[in-house]
Amino acid sequence: EEEKAEGGKVVVAGAPLVTATEVKVNVSMPEVAERAAATGADGVGLLRAEHMILGIGAHPVKFIKEGKEEELVERLVEGIRKVVEAFYPRRVWYRTLDAPTNEFRELPGGEDEPEERNPMLGWRGIRRGLDQPELLRAEFKAIKRLVDEGYDNIGVMLPLVSHPEQIRKAKEIAMEVGLIPHKDVEWGVMIETPASALIIEDLIKEGIDFVSFGTNDLTQYTLAIDRDNERVFKLYDEKHPAVLKLIENVIKTCKKYGVETSICGQAGSDPKMVRLLVRMGIDSVSANPDAVELVRKTVAREEARIQLEAARKALRE
Ligand code: PEP
Ligand code: MG
Repeated sequence: EEEKAEGGKVVVAGAPLVTATEVKVNVSMPEVAERAAATGADGVGLLRAEHMILGIGAHPVKFIKEGKEEELVERLVEGIRKVVEAFYPRRVWYRTLDAPTNEFRELPGGEDEPEERNPMLGWRGIRRGLDQPELLRAEFKAIKRLVDEGYDNIGVMLPLVSHPEQIRKAKEIAMEVGLIPHKDVEWGVMIETPASALIIEDLIKEGIDFVSFGTNDLTQYTLAIDRDNERVFKLYDEKHPAVLKLIENVIKTCKKYGVETSICGQAGSDPKMVRLLVRMGIDSVSANPDAVELVRKTVAREEARIQLEAARKALRE
């Protein structure tokens, strides 16, 4: 086999495959950090907090209120450190906790969780984070400790943002624990609702370094299709023109303001979607660990095609 992953780079016939569009990887558990880093990915476009936080086997908010915040912070420091160390100096974007109430309810101590008709439209992501800031505070404390250890490759990504104030309030909570957005860490938001895509300019004015398309949610909310409902799943399409239009508009606006763009939804592992995004000029694509190599090749080929088309066009002029 002439193609193999070697020393963190995909080697094709002896030459590392380099692309202008960065190819990153999604990491759900710190335990797989080393393996994810060995794919040759240019960074982590989504480090999920759910496994680290819900893995304490207790309701995390109750846990903190029982005086065990330090235990949770320490667990987060250990987990996130594994990832930022394995990837250093490549960048890692940590997404703050985004679990719906039905997942909280399954935890020991979760019996008091509200019963919601539509948990995916309910108390989750940054909405809950701001209502119960003790969790965000613990997450930011953990990141602050890693910054103090010298890790300068961390970004914070806020889930399910749809209002500029949510960015401002989350920043205030970070500052309260001494974590300075834009200086200590890059600061960004997920684009997961049509609202966030349509008011992207207002979100940018609030101060963000990057956005990442959460196409799993962006698709479900744009098409009004429950991503977990089998009956309508055949209509679930991340490449639906409406979803693509929202994405294209965000990329254009972000370019105008110098804000970095990425994708960390499942569609980032789909070669057809990746080709469309490269043409739209996205800065990076974050894929599942097992898709990084294919996505890298897809990006390389599409970039070559774009260059060739430009060269041919120039010759004709
Ligand atoms: C998304 O919505 O695309 C995403 C990456 O977040 P999650 O799958 O955790 O909702
Ligand atoms: Mg999401």
